[in-house]
Amino acid sequence: MQIRKFIVGPIGANCYVVWSEDSREGVMIDPGGASPQIEEYIKENHIHINKIVLTHGHFDHIGGLDEAKALTGAPVYIAKDDADCLTSSGKNISTMMGQAKTFEPADVLMKDGDVISIDDKHQLTVMLTPGHTPGGCCLIGKEVVFTGDTLFYTSIGRTDFPGGDYQAIIASVKKLMTLDEHLKVLPGHGENSEIGFERHNNPFI
Ligand SMILES: [Zn+2]
Repeated sequence: MQIRKFIVGPIGANCYVVWSEDSREGVMIDPGGASPQIEEYIKENHIHINKIVLTHGHFDHIGGLDEAKALTGAPVYIAKDDADCLTSSGKNISTMMGQAKTFEPADVLMKDGDVISIDDKHQLTVMLTPGHTPGGCCLIGKEVVFTGDTLFYTSIGRTDFPGGDYQAIIASVKKLMTLDEHLKVLPGHGENSEIGFERHNNPFI
């Protein structure tokens, strides 16, 4: 599985293109802003993006959704409890950031344990991890976990936005810590980490 990270949008969110070299099928995670680099990468590598998957519904992770949909034509996936972020500028906090923006509703609402297939051989499993937002989720692959704004390198997501819940995010992070220690952590902002490293070095655990 190939994974390419792009830093996009006004406050630098991580957008990931995850794809298979065998099938050229892939998914895009968190298109936080329009990016000519992503378009170029997808075209250069002849990647067919078959899903756009959102770790949560905050503006800085969905800001490039319209462009991503126009580019790929792929359906949009978000966990059920963040679904209204797409249609509410209050819930996606774009109002707070001074440029209210809404989007078309998602095509598929994800539940805990759902399997997101990239192609026949590669998949991501949805783990709901509420706390930063009510419908935040992580996406677990064979060697990596995309943690959105739930878990960062030696930190965790903020819980002072609407719908945030500190007790809930701590429970979510503890659930993440039960995963294989060798899983690489690919967060929604900042640098990568590893489950085992966070277990020993994250001050919130
Ligand atoms: Zn967020």
